[in-house]
Amino acid sequence: MKTKIQRINPEMFQDEELSEACEILRRKGLVAFPTETVYGLGGDAMHPEAAAKIYAAKGRPSDNPLIIHIAGIDDLYNIVAEVPEKAKKLAEAFWPGPLTMIFRKQRQVPYSTTGGLDTVAVRMPSHPVAMELIRQSGVYIAAPSANTSGRPSPTKAEHVIEDLDGRIDMILDGGMVGIGLESTIIDLSDKEPVILRPGYVTRNMLEDVVGEVQVDPAVANRELNPNIVAKAPGMKYRHYAPKGQLTIVEGESDAVVEKINALVAEHLKEGMKVAVIATEETKDQYAQGVVCSIGSRKNEGSIAAGLYDMLREMDHLGAQYIYAESFENDSLGQAIMNRMLKAAGYHLIKV
Ligand code: AMP
Ligand code: MG
Repeated sequence: MKTKIQRINPEMFQDEELSEACEILRRKGLVAFPTETVYGLGGDAMHPEAAAKIYAAKGRPSDNPLIIHIAGIDDLYNIVAEVPEKAKKLAEAFWPGPLTMIFRKQRQVPYSTTGGLDTVAVRMPSHPVAMELIRQSGVYIAAPSANTSGRPSPTKAEHVIEDLDGRIDMILDGGMVGIGLESTIIDLSDKEPVILRPGYVTRNMLEDVVGEVQVDPAVANRELNPNIVAKAPGMKYRHYAPKGQLTIVEGESDAVVEKINALVAEHLKEGMKVAVIATEETKDQYAQGVVCSIGSRKNEGSIAAGLYDMLREMDHLGAQYIYAESFENDSLGQAIMNRMLKAAGYHLIKV
């Protein structure tokens, strides 16, 4: 299949520029498009045929459900069985935006979209291209991230091309996305709201609107623990992984630098290609290896935005071993660290 690549300026575009993409979606084809979080791989959520194509193009396990993207609050009532009070409040506060909510599904939502579950994930994106694509096509768009399953999520069209060229009908190239990490997922299908995946919308922000919110134990997990099963099926898979072995080193900054320098020196002696994911604050303290700064700790937003591009860059460099500093606090750092731990297959050294 030939993949058509169409550039579109998110700040200024005409309706007609989306007509071919809309046409493809209506005939159950696949279109990758920018959202404010990462690029999504879109297909018609209400048709099993389109969902099957999404799983095939990504090589995604079929038990890993898709998020349905809508353009207006009315659409929600056509998809979900019940909208709890707390969900209404959260929608008011955070939609359109980087928050996905889990509801009990209506019968007509196909199980192929929900990975066989009786619940459904829904999000209203704020990106103008995503919004307009949903509105103009009249299609509820099922869209996981537009990467090959297991690879870092795409934050620019080049990443989508790298993974999916020749496997999907069209890529809308709207440049780099703003946030760079997937949406926060909160489950509202049970009595108590539970965060299943951390993201740009933090626990504090959610609690300010609806009171106490739980966090799925799998989210805070620092090691591979077979006894803790993630409630979001997708969170159990190794994800976002570069080809080389990524290890995260955690502790006091000076000790971390010292440890990484020692590990890098060891691998270089063995003739390996080694890279370091450092920060602006520490990059000059690394003596050897390919040292890449992921941004300043004072601006976690820019670190989040550049994380996946950096992980893909590690592949381009051919890095066999990669050492990264750690991130953690209770805001965006938690989402960053959650993705990094998965990318590292939970290889974590504490110093
Ligand atoms: P992606 O769109 O690639 O970011 O993946 C969607 C994420 O949402 C995956 O981690 C899924 O497991 C999760 N998800 C989607 N639908 C549900 C659902 N009904 N219940 C729990 N998690 C879900
Ligand atoms: Mg994904």
